[in-house]
Amino acid sequence: MNENVFAAGSPVISLNQQPAAEGRDDAVPSSAAEAIAPSAEDSVHDVAIIGSGPAGYTAAIYTARANLKPIVFASSVAAGGDLMTTTEVENFPGFVDGIQGPELMSTMQQQAERFGADIRYEDVESVELAGELKRITVADGSVHWAKAVIVSTGSEYRKLGLEDEARLSGHGVSWCATCDGFFFKEKPIAVVGGGDSALEEALFLTTFASSVTIIHRRDSMRASEIMQRRALEHPKITFVWDSEVVGIEGAAQTEALQVRNVKSGLTQRLEVSGLFVAIGSDPRTELVKDQLELTAEGTIAVQGRSSKTSLPGVFAAGDVIDPTYRQAITAAVDQVVAFAADVHQGRVAPARGGLFTDVLIVGIGGSALGAQLAASALGQVGDPLAVHF
Ligand code: NAP
Repeated sequence: MNENVFAAGSPVISLNQQPAAEGRDDAVPSSAAEAIAPSAEDSVHDVAIIGSGPAGYTAAIYTARANLKPIVFASSVAAGGDLMTTTEVENFPGFVDGIQGPELMSTMQQQAERFGADIRYEDVESVELAGELKRITVADGSVHWAKAVIVSTGSEYRKLGLEDEARLSGHGVSWCATCDGFFFKEKPIAVVGGGDSALEEALFLTTFASSVTIIHRRDSMRASEIMQRRALEHPKITFVWDSEVVGIEGAAQTEALQVRNVKSGLTQRLEVSGLFVAIGSDPRTELVKDQLELTAEGTIAVQGRSSKTSLPGVFAAGDVIDPTYRQAITAAVDQVVAFAADVHQGRVAPARGGLFTDVLIVGIGGSALGAQLAASALGQVGDPLAVHF
């Protein structure tokens, strides 16, 4: 991660820099210096959250509990993020028997709404983040303003980059086993990748497919031990090592793959009806890449563990800042740090009163582990915050 982008130090914003008409939290700032400013009719939110994965919804829960009345732009089609297309989540603390991804996200959404988060199933079209007030334009053209923005836009599936991959997308080529696996009943399928996602997809696809071939470019996998063992021991799964897909055949539907061994250089033809690409994901930074500093890995650069981006009042959390772990639980904890930094800077405050500076954590999902993770993350913000389990 590029630590130098903040060398000059981010200016600390105090509440005094956020003028607001008495008794209103939707006031227009008086700063004449601002080229773009809200009109008298525009509403100004304390916090706007872009994204609705574990980071976005955790952001919503924390900020809503602090009476910051967050507005959450959850996306029109992808609300809930990648976990909506996942099956069993076994490693999110608090669920002894695991939980289905969509159920977990629905629970987080309801938890945020319970505290008053305003969740909008809309797509953000553009943002202007440099000013004291941040401008957010959504797909229907309406404009929102916010004193602080938390960017939690997650990541998007990586592509192989083959011409036929795009052409046959939806015609046998897929990035989501839970969405499309059903269409491959008793058919041979291939999965590309050697990480947890690839193995998870492959294991799930065994429910439908006649066989699943995992094609991996190396001879060892980076997936967790438990997933490797499950895949290696599964009777329907076979592996093609040291190999990459270099072509996809089929006029209207996927029929076969050209698979090249990277060591021998030999290419073999593999007949399959489906190809699932599970080779990781890239941070989704399209909205902000020209305004915020990015790291060499393409994630949004944040200062240490604080989740502060290169612009004051703009925070980022979850997969969009994480080139390494990309777990639901780390996304949630990132957000706790984002919120702590927010409060630490005095960037935002509740509309009335202010009871929240020493009460930031009341557990994550009631889980001691989650709360400990959050506590440890908060400790790194350097703020003497009390933690309540
Ligand atoms: P990942 O761990 O980055 O793995 C990506 C895999 O795709 C690697 O094996 C990589 O090969 C391969 N790959 C990358 N680019 C490729 C290309 N152009 N052509 C062919 N192969 C390519 O990504 P992930 O599997 O999506 O996992 C991301 C994170 O989510 C990880 O931290 C993972 O543990 C977590 N996750 C956890 C679970 C779970 O706990 N059940 C489930 C899913 C994901 P190399 O190994 O050679 O680099």
